[in-house]
Amino acid sequence: MPVLWFSFSAATAITYSILHFASKRKKASVEFIFSVALIFAGISNALNLIWLKPVYFPLVISASVFYSWQTVVPLSFLVMLLRLKALFMNETFLEEIAFSASLLLTAVISSVMLDRFRKEKGKDYTALETIKDAAEAMPETSTESIDSNEAVSYYFASMLKTDEEIKELLLAIKQAVFANSVNLFMPYQNGFMLRCSTEEKGVIIVTGKGIIAECFKTKKVFYSGEINERISEIGYIKNKKNNKVLSALAVPVMDGYTLTGVLTSDSSIYHAFSEPVRNTVQMFAAHLARILERERIYPKLKRDYNNLEILKEESSKLVSSLNLNVIAEKLCEGAERIASSHAFLFIASGKQFELIHHTGSISGNKTVFDLKSTFINIAVENRQPFYMADMKDYRASVLPFNAGNICSIFIIPLIYESKLLGLFVMSSEKAAFLDTFQRELMEVMCNQAATSIANAKLHAEIEKLATTDGLTGLFNHRVFQEKLSEELKKLSRYSEPSSLLLADIDFFKKINDTYGHPAGDFVLKEVSKIIREAIRDIDIPARYGGEEFAAILPRTDSKGAMNIAERLRKAVMSASFSSDASSLRVTLSIGIATTPSDAKSEEELIEKADHALYYAKHNGRNRSVLWSEIKN
Ligand code: GH3
Ligand code: MG
Ligand code: MG
Repeated sequence: MPVLWFSFSAATAITYSILHFASKRKKASVEFIFSVALIFAGISNALNLIWLKPVYFPLVISASVFYSWQTVVPLSFLVMLLRLKALFMNETFLEEIAFSASLLLTAVISSVMLDRFRKEKGKDYTALETIKDAAEAMPETSTESIDSNEAVSYYFASMLKTDEEIKELLLAIKQAVFANSVNLFMPYQNGFMLRCSTEEKGVIIVTGKGIIAECFKTKKVFYSGEINERISEIGYIKNKKNNKVLSALAVPVMDGYTLTGVLTSDSSIYHAFSEPVRNTVQMFAAHLARILERERIYPKLKRDYNNLEILKEESSKLVSSLNLNVIAEKLCEGAERIASSHAFLFIASGKQFELIHHTGSISGNKTVFDLKSTFINIAVENRQPFYMADMKDYRASVLPFNAGNICSIFIIPLIYESKLLGLFVMSSEKAAFLDTFQRELMEVMCNQAATSIANAKLHAEIEKLATTDGLTGLFNHRVFQEKLSEELKKLSRYSEPSSLLLADIDFFKKINDTYGHPAGDFVLKEVSKIIREAIRDIDIPARYGGEEFAAILPRTDSKGAMNIAERLRKAVMSASFSSDASSLRVTLSIGIATTPSDAKSEEELIEKADHALYYAKHNGRNRSVLWSEIKN
């Protein structure tokens, strides 16, 4: 039934073409190819077109272009199967046999030929793919990779595999150009050495000279396809049986204008490397140059990166503190990490400079210096960082003290809003101890330190304003209350006595009225000074109110407190305050209460001391009174 046959084969072919277009594949499916054969058979059977038979030949040949023999040979068998009817007809039997046999032969021959062609092409292709993959796997060296720690560590890890990478590349070259061995030579002393080879260790023996030496000298490609061992030299010999070198190619590996190595490939065949092959090797050499360049810049890059890490860490430490001493310590530590050296931090106070922190020993124990006659004053005058890489022959004093042997120095002024806050000095016994990059890092760090120091100073000022009394410089009433409860809490644990003095200037109103308010202020200031001198370091003085003062005396019983009070009272009594022309005197009345004997709480303690003061006022003034003595 030819019509049914035709319809079936046409339907199959159409189905597969639709499927083929739907899947958007570049290559037609095997089923499609088979259905095309089916449709030919369908057409020739339905319409009895015998001349359509030869169309199978181009079909099989074109199929073998895209498919391997595993597809093409079964295809020709399918054609035989489709023509089974004609095979059993007596008159066409021989013709069909001849047709089928030649179709099968065509399928086999074209498959084998095209397979070989594909393999040859594939070799070059895989070699090129290897290079392409290697190139793509290389991460970019842009600054953004510095931001991401992961990218950076990956990058450095891949750097360490340079040798492996070179070896892989040499093997790829060997495959691509059908060489017997491919080698990389690098300059060494006055000659060259073998850096990497596709041969095993010991096979390549460097002899020097030869075309490799020429290549190193002239930076040009050398090639010979007829090496005669007696006449021409390559620069190495091979310690391997049956491995004569008859062709050798030497290509310079260039990093900009400098030659970093010579890439050689050799072969045991005459005229082994054609011009396109030589060009391929040159292309590989360019890639090799990039690997070697990376290897060259790697240590510097790694060090720079480490330094940036230090900067990041240390400057965040600098920012995190508002304490000048902590900042000074961190800055010196950071400097130590960037370069081994001695560091000194001076903070400006007026025309003088105070040494806040230093690493390494210095002579004397003075801390405030005049830098006028020293070398480092140059940075104070110029307000610019100053680096001296070699100062062995400098005879005058470098620093205001003796800090041992100094061969090179870096001085950075710490400037904040055009104000010189201080000076940071790094010194070393070695000449040229810092490179440009390290100096830049230090400048950035000192810039950060200057800001932090300015912040710390501002913070200290604000804190002082908030806690002390502007006129006398003593703690204000708020801080007095805080300190008192703090002290009592602390001391109650040890059940030790503590005392409180409340002192009031006698007839102070008169001073104001007679000499004026400024004179009164002056007296208040002078009395505060006497209070500070009369009490001990552990005692806490405060301005309690107008002309009233308080002093917390930790770990002091009433007897001890009375001694201190009397010392204070007598000192004030014997002092004469001279303001302008007039000289005046004042006296103090002092009330004393002690905890825990007189009072349990801080409110009670103040109350009892106040009572004692009131008693002193009403019993003649200019006296010290203990609460414990008047309570009855
Ligand atoms: P007494 O304590 O001996 O009883 O007499 P007094 O005159 O010292 O007593 P009073 O407490 O009445 O007077 C305190 C005066 O101190 C009143 C006020 O004008 C003055 N005073 C308070 N604070 C200041 C200040 O900051 N500066 C000056 N100049 N005077 C002040
Ligand atoms: Mg008063
Ligand atoms: Mg008074």
